[in-house]
Amino acid sequence: MGTTETGIVSGRLSPAEYDRNFSDLHPSLDEHEALVASDRCYFCYDAPCMTACPTSIDIPLFIRQISTGNPIGSANTIFDQNILGGMCARVCPTETLCEQACVRNTAEHRPVEIGRLQRYATDIAMRDNVQFYERAEPTGKSIAVIGAGPAGLACAHRLAVKGHDVVIYDAREKAGGLNEYGIATYKTVDSFAQKEVDYVLSIGGIEIRNRQMLGRDFSLNDMLSKHDAVFLGLGLAGVNALRAEGETAAGVEDAVDFIAALRQSETKSDIPVGRRVVVLGGGMTAVDAAVQAKLLGAEEVTICYRRGKDNMNASEFEQDLAASKGVTIRHWLQPKRILTRDGKVAGIELDYTALEDGRLVTTGETGVITADHVLKAIGQTFEADDLGAIALQCGRIVVDAEGHTSLERVWAGGDCVLGGEDLTVSAVAMGRDAAESINRALAAATQPVVAVA
Ligand SMILES: Cc1cc2nc3c(=O)[nH]c(=O)nc-3n(C[C@H](O)[C@H](O)[C@H](O)COP(=O)(O)OP(=O)(O)OC[C@H]3O[C@@H](n4cnc5c(N)ncnc54)[C@H](O)[C@@H]3O)c2cc1C
Ligand code: SF4
Repeated sequence: MGTTETGIVSGRLSPAEYDRNFSDLHPSLDEHEALVASDRCYFCYDAPCMTACPTSIDIPLFIRQISTGNPIGSANTIFDQNILGGMCARVCPTETLCEQACVRNTAEHRPVEIGRLQRYATDIAMRDNVQFYERAEPTGKSIAVIGAGPAGLACAHRLAVKGHDVVIYDAREKAGGLNEYGIATYKTVDSFAQKEVDYVLSIGGIEIRNRQMLGRDFSLNDMLSKHDAVFLGLGLAGVNALRAEGETAAGVEDAVDFIAALRQSETKSDIPVGRRVVVLGGGMTAVDAAVQAKLLGAEEVTICYRRGKDNMNASEFEQDLAASKGVTIRHWLQPKRILTRDGKVAGIELDYTALEDGRLVTTGETGVITADHVLKAIGQTFEADDLGAIALQCGRIVVDAEGHTSLERVWAGGDCVLGGEDLTVSAVAMGRDAAESINRALAAATQPVVAVA
């Protein structure tokens, strides 16, 4: 039975409603559906879908393998480029990547369902615990990977395949990074993130040390003295401040913390949510927080974004998903002041905004939305102590085309680097490519020196 209580409370829904609301958004295709979906592919030469994939998976090949009844071979094709292909199949915004580029994506036709086909093949291989990779002969080299998110895991796996020993250090309780603590619950059900971590680790040669934080429990110099190379996959641990009066009132919460708590909850019934929720921001985090607040039983959920619809980082698909779940999205509104009663959120006053000569300005008009819960999703920031002399720009780590930082023997990838796209699949691509670069550098360093007469 639901509750009509106002304020931020847990248990607004019945157990059955929680189960229904947080079930799989796009359940796996069955065999027949996969064969029908794969049959729509033209197996293009020079396939544009493949170019649009940050990990360059051979999409026509893996779809052909499904269509010929070989899902295991298909999974092998996917994992060769992207060992986290299972998670990417669930979370990639395919509508702006491979499926947008698909030649079948026309006014009359839908694109080939590349994401769902990828999930079909990888789910079968993981379910049957099919192992595709063996480690090369041990090289005797050891690499520290700091951060067990998609970038760190992809880097560690590729290094382990090459025969190196890897130690992953991560600040949190569990490995997986935002796959475990950030991705919306309905995109990754049944502890899939942990199952995928186990699958990645089953290659051997990778040790994970949790609750180990760079800058608190060890330094970069410690790592450089213990290991032959270091990879930084630190993600974005900080959040931007609202800089609006009342920000510290009870009921104002970071959207990433709200989502992390939700992801760690077994039943969801223990996660408190307001009756009227305002989410500030225009990206994927804002949409995920808003949709999940609604699914937790909030009555009214409004996303306020300071620019127009076309400027939102959340894709069209995400925006439609929010609308379909009853979330209202309002544009050209920027927070001015959190209104409080007895120290608790009672509403939010917002400035109307507009573009003037390309600059965002407030128009002088304001409006108020009643709310008891305000979720801030206004962007994350890179936070890391103890990076020594590593060059940063715009608050992120500068790397070259191979992921090498300005410091010798230190590479980086994923959200923490400048130019990252803040997508799971891009983090995987950067981690994998940095591993190849580390492997080349270590191999070059062990080449015998040839004396020149
Ligand atoms: C709410 C939310 C929803 C998202 N949804 C999607 C989505 O649907 N699809 C999509 O493609 N992308 C999504 N993203 C983006 C995606 O999750 C990230 O781009 C991706 O996780 C980046 O991977 P990463 O390995 O660089 O960093 P992370 O996943 O953030 O992992 C970084 C790891 O480093 C660890 N760490 C941090 N600092 C330290 C330290 N000092 N010492 C030791 N360890 C440390 C952290 O504990 C963490 O495990 C979402 C992001 C958020 C915030
Ligand atoms: S672009 Fe579309 S039709 Fe062509 S190979 Fe890729 S998925 Fe198949």
